[in-house]
Amino acid sequence: MAGVEAGAKAASGDTIADELIAALGADCVFLGDDIPASAISDESASGTQRPLILLRPRSVEAVSQAMKICSRRGQTVVPQGGMTGLAGGACPRATDIALSLDRISGVEAIDPDAMTMTVRAGTILQVAQQAAEAEGLMVPIDLGARGSCQIGGIIATNAGGSNVIRHRMTRENILGFEAVLADGRVLSNLHGMVKNNTGYDLAQLFVGSEGTLGIITRAVMKLKPLPAGRHTALCALADFDAVVRLLQHARSELRDLSAIEVMWGDYFALLQDLEGERLFHPAPPIAVIIESESMEPHKGAAEFEEFLAAMLEQQILSDALIAQSVREAAIFWAVREGDKIYHAMPNLINLDISIDIGRMGRFVLECVEAVKARFPHVRALFYGHAGDGNLHIALDMPEPGNDHLSHELETIIYTKVQQMGGSISAEHGIGTLKRDYLRYSRSPEEIEVMRRIKIALDPQCLLNPGKVV
Ligand SMILES: Cc1cc2nc3c(=O)[nH]c(=O)nc-3n(C[C@H](O)[C@H](O)[C@H](O)COP(=O)(O)OP(=O)(O)OC[C@H]3O[C@@H](n4cnc5c(N)ncnc54)[C@H](O)[C@@H]3O)c2cc1C
Repeated sequence: MAGVEAGAKAASGDTIADELIAALGADCVFLGDDIPASAISDESASGTQRPLILLRPRSVEAVSQAMKICSRRGQTVVPQGGMTGLAGGACPRATDIALSLDRISGVEAIDPDAMTMTVRAGTILQVAQQAAEAEGLMVPIDLGARGSCQIGGIIATNAGGSNVIRHRMTRENILGFEAVLADGRVLSNLHGMVKNNTGYDLAQLFVGSEGTLGIITRAVMKLKPLPAGRHTALCALADFDAVVRLLQHARSELRDLSAIEVMWGDYFALLQDLEGERLFHPAPPIAVIIESESMEPHKGAAEFEEFLAAMLEQQILSDALIAQSVREAAIFWAVREGDKIYHAMPNLINLDISIDIGRMGRFVLECVEAVKARFPHVRALFYGHAGDGNLHIALDMPEPGNDHLSHELETIIYTKVQQMGGSISAEHGIGTLKRDYLRYSRSPEEIEVMRRIKIALDPQCLLNPGKVV
């Protein structure tokens, strides 16, 4: 292999690459140009460096062996899942080894009685969803990156998605877990119990740890009954106060509410254009997708329609389109998920914040005002998971390539978040991109405790160095 010279020389004269090849097999160790570009950056496009080595182990034992070797040599390691992260968490430096979980994949077991799934970390979320559906069950987590993100990645980032209002974040859906520690020991507790108060909940410690505490290799996830039907509507509203009222009514009157997603008018107008649709023309000040799941399709549909009719009558909604098919619902969701936004905003800064729903309308107005005052040409578009108080903000870079100005723009938004007591990361994590802003949402004492936990589990700071804390 080309780069057997890579890495520090051991006392024996072997390089770390030699040692990893001997332990894992040459087909699991990639060097130099054999490392694909996909190992350089996640979806944030913030990674620029090819890692020293890419490992693609085939088993938990191989991950453990690799970490033992890296630990002995003081070698840093970056765990990589589906590389769909938006915070730079999986991006390596040139001196890091990247460890991809992609070959440790597959659903090991589904227990229909306990409604749990034991799944390997490298399994693509959509594969896990399909396996559950084949048993009449569902994985309670869903997000736009479902076709690429991995179970290990969603656990490591505590991913949210569009069903959080009903099924909660990843954290609430994990029961057991297994992870390889920085020194190669395997921490395994693959239980499926809902109640297990036997000391500290270690699984929860790893949820949202972004690869800094251990390499997640397997998990036991909760499953839910597969709904018989989904009812989806796209609604037009006059202002954000109407969204708050809609949310209040939906929470109490719509039994099986599963999503309330909001798009401010300029985001909606741009994305419906990019999708080649004319759903509402002209675009309303606010558009909302409302969705409910039901076990009884006909009863559910009638309830859903009655609810929308009442909201129209009370003038909370000014218009509503009910999807008549899965395809029509998918069109609404395509506008909301906004995959095509890069066509119109190639130099996009994508922020993800949490704010109390009661303050969200004012937050948006103040952000627009503050951004325009400093960067009049920058577009600021708002959309997100309104039901969870989670907003995404799409901004043009003030000057592509000028990190200083991008940083200034982000600081304008994060200062507003801090002033309103929100969180600078609702679901994408901290990674490298938000590390400097962690103090906007966490106290010095909290950050100090996080550092202590990190040192306790990874005293040499080998796992995902420079990320989170
Ligand atoms: C189109 C699109 C839509 C998205 N929508 C949402 C959304 O609605 N909600 C949401 O929360 N996120 C969303 N995301 C962000 C992203 O998909 C999630 O953060 C996802 O959980 C990342 O999973 P991944 O496997 O791609 O992880 P990666 O991007 O590969 O890694 C993310 C982090 O987890 C660590 N990691 C990965 N695997 C492991 C492992 N096995 N053990 C330890 N650490 C690991 C990495 O080191 C890194 O720090 C979206 C992204 C895209 C591109």
